[in-house]
Amino acid sequence: MAKVLPILNHPHPILRKKSRPLTAEEINSSKIQSLISNLAKTMITKDGAGLAAPQVGENVQLLALRDEEKIIIMINPQITKKSWAKDVNEEGCLSVLDKNGNIIFGNVERHKKVQCLYLNAKGKKQKISAENILARIIQHETDHLDGILFIDKLYHGK
Ligand SMILES: [Zn+2]
Repeated sequence: MAKVLPILNHPHPILRKKSRPLTAEEINSSKIQSLISNLAKTMITKDGAGLAAPQVGENVQLLALRDEEKIIIMINPQITKKSWAKDVNEEGCLSVLDKNGNIIFGNVERHKKVQCLYLNAKGKKQKISAENILARIIQHETDHLDGILFIDKLYHGK
């Protein structure tokens, strides 16, 4: 049974480390397979749009995100194309809370469209072209794998 994992909060140092890619062998291991199930369950339970492995204390390139009703698992994701067009919208993060434990929101500028290559939970190569909210979630979550939080990118412009 999948379980809900505790989520690390900013300024935990694990959130600031670069995560390493997973090997094909690791992806098939029971350790990573249960981490994948637990990550997805935690995201759903906490009502997040996405959740990256470092947020549950593992510095590996793994994340879960929602595409409407669907759950997408991405391993070793690489953004391979970014649109020139950007837009600004509000983001929050399960790891960034105020002192009362509430999620903080802030505007961030992101590419409107991205293309991303990744491995699915079975280690199979996938490619996704995403725009708008899904593109934003992919950029937010892949930033976590580089130790970057949305509060580093707050938009103060025009
Ligand atoms: Zn986040």
